[in-house]
Amino acid sequence: MAVALIVAAGRGERLGSAGPKALVSVAGRPMLQWSVDALLEVSEVQAIVIALPADRLDAAPPQTIAVAGGETRSESVRAALDAAREVEDEVVIVHDAARALVRPELFSASLAELAGSGADVVIAAAPVSDTIKQVGDDGRTVESTLDRSRLWAVQTPQVFRREALVRALSSSAELLAAATDDAWLVERQGGRVVVLAAPHENFKITTPLDLRLAEMLLLERSSM
Ligand code: C5P
Repeated sequence: MAVALIVAAGRGERLGSAGPKALVSVAGRPMLQWSVDALLEVSEVQAIVIALPADRLDAAPPQTIAVAGGETRSESVRAALDAAREVEDEVVIVHDAARALVRPELFSASLAELAGSGADVVIAAAPVSDTIKQVGDDGRTVESTLDRSRLWAVQTPQVFRREALVRALSSSAELLAAATDDAWLVERQGGRVVVLAAPHENFKITTPLDLRLAEMLLLERSSM
């Protein structure tokens, strides 16, 4: 059994919305609700904790536990994990509310991979399709071209053995602020992190273009 933490406390400045991004309406539901609905279909999930902006705890859907998020994403994860203290599961799912297109099957497959692989963390990720180049200090001169066959674009869900996540989140405030995903903190501590191939459809809604695309895909899904 597992506890799920959804981080939904970001402001979503790149989306340019008036309120918090996770509460923006997508295909007739608040963005956050899509991930909650997917998680409610996963039988292993015992409890769902959501980190929300402190003044919007009222926005947590029924059957979930609301907690105020932090200044950074990892601090929001830590706040949600603290709120899940009473739930004794050894496995913790971390998911971004901004990935509203997640399917229940991706949560289940990630949990199965954690159990089967013996890894500390399983992260959903998609193989990179573009060629990626690294530029130098001037911000434009190419220094190297990375081997695309070994590159993965990381998504959520990220599924952790609980003790690995607790240890990772005890990192310094500087590291927590620098972490764009929690699996990186586990990597730094020598933990084993493995990728699980996930569809590009599970993209993160960041820009107004992403929001339009998500709206289209979710409306199509609702009508099927
Ligand atoms: O900013 P970004 O899109 O990378 O955020 C990823 C997820 O982390 C979003 O779902 C956002 O709501 C969440 N977040 C959070 N607390 C923060 C910053 C981001 O819960 N302080």
